Amino acid sequence: MNHYDVIIVGGGAAGFFAAINVAEQNPKLKVAILERGKSGLQKVKISGGGRCNVTHAEFIPSELVRNYPRGEKELLGPFHQFMTGDTIQWFEDRGVALKIEDDGRMFPVTNSSQTIIDCFLKEAQKHKVDILYNHALKSVIHSGKDWLLETSQGEFSATKLMLATGSNPKIWKLLEQLGHTISQAVPSLFTFDIKDERIKDIPGVVALDVEVKVVGSNLWSEGPLLITHVGMSAPAILKLSAFGAIELAKRDYDFEIEVNFIKQSLDDCMEQLKTLKHDLAKKTVLKSSQFELPKRLWQKLVLASQMTTETRWADLTKFQVEQLASQLTKAVFHVTGKSTFKEEFVTAGGVSLKEVNFKTFESRLHENLYFAGEILNIDAITGGFNFQNAWSGAYISSLAMSISDEVD
Ligand SMILES: Cc1cc2nc3c(=O)[nH]c(=O)nc-3n(C[C@H](O)[C@H](O)[C@H](O)COP(=O)(O)OP(=O)(O)OC[C@H]3O[C@@H](n4cnc5c(N)ncnc54)[C@H](O)[C@@H]3O)c2cc1C
Repeated sequence: MNHYDVIIVGGGAAGFFAAINVAEQNPKLKVAILERGKSGLQKVKISGGGRCNVTHAEFIPSELVRNYPRGEKELLGPFHQFMTGDTIQWFEDRGVALKIEDDGRMFPVTNSSQTIIDCFLKEAQKHKVDILYNHALKSVIHSGKDWLLETSQGEFSATKLMLATGSNPKIWKLLEQLGHTISQAVPSLFTFDIKDERIKDIPGVVALDVEVKVVGSNLWSEGPLLITHVGMSAPAILKLSAFGAIELAKRDYDFEIEVNFIKQSLDDCMEQLKTLKHDLAKKTVLKSSQFELPKRLWQKLVLASQMTTETRWADLTKFQVEQLASQLTKAVFHVTGKSTFKEEFVTAGGVSLKEVNFKTFESRLHENLYFAGEILNIDAITGGFNFQNAWSGAYISSLAMSISDEVD
């Protein structure tokens, strides 16, 4: 049986980051990654539309954690130890420069996820990490001082074991057998399917700053909203899908949202419309788009407010003013399902956070068993935060895993 000091199962973002750091911090340790695929880092490859949104330019831990619907409390300590600035420095020290985009997302300056993959492969080789592809973990037991692993290609033993297998239900089952609690897995970061005349045939239209609420709940978010071929997307929706992941799954993705397209109260909007009725009297409402809304969206909302294409501002009835104000500030849409957000998607759920010591990312139930990345019940909104969770957990656990118990 092959013995390693440290075995990391899962050659994804967290697995590679942990393995490289362990091997670098303690070159005496024999370190291996066991990866089920014929290559690793597949999600890194496709991440951020092939550009890899590595992290986010948010440098205050208490602000950073607010992007994690699950993990907010637990990540505060770890982020004081290793967070976005450290990630940038880590990559920079290894020749990978990152750049910040206007919305705070950070990418390699090459705009290619391959840069990150090349860096990891080079570093793993430099620090003599064994990467064993086509090795799927089948079972794991703790025997004496060692972890015994059965894989699709033979047995291994390890003094310290990290599971960084992402959202793999089979590994969660194995962990349940080891006594761990697994929070139910549900999708996060998805777009909303909506069939509605008001958004039909206007894909690509963006309302820059809206407020969205889920009717009958406390869930709400704000930000840009994009109209797509099948419904709505962009941060206002994606944030809601992340913070509402569990609630929306319970509702079987059938619910209503209320959109305030102009982030004003109904009353304020009515007042403004009354002024416009006076100021633009002779103009047609349809053609005089207001509130900095895209023209095509304005027209859809006007037509949904009991007006024709010819209605002039001066002719607006009180009822029509109310209708338009209502469409602008509290338009209700029926969501009938969800679609995958192609740039990034994650799973909410995983190893219960109560059972993990966040000073080391070690299991509280089993000594020398560590976790990092999406295997934990941690996930974030879109923007580079999910990778930051992987980097932070992997780095902090690597400090613990690199401490050798052996006496020279
Ligand atoms: C399309 C897409 C785009 C994304 N873009 C971004 C982005 O730009 N920025 C961002 O922050 N986040 C992004 N994410 C989320 C991010 O990719 C994940 O949060 C991150 O990859 C989690 O890292 P991980 O190492 O925990 O898991 P993974 O990257 O999923 O790696 C787990 C690894 O474990 C292996 N494995 C699983 N089971 C076994 C087993 N039994 N034996 C051996 N190996 C096993 C898998 O094959 C895999 O290689 C994106 C996700 C998707 C799907």
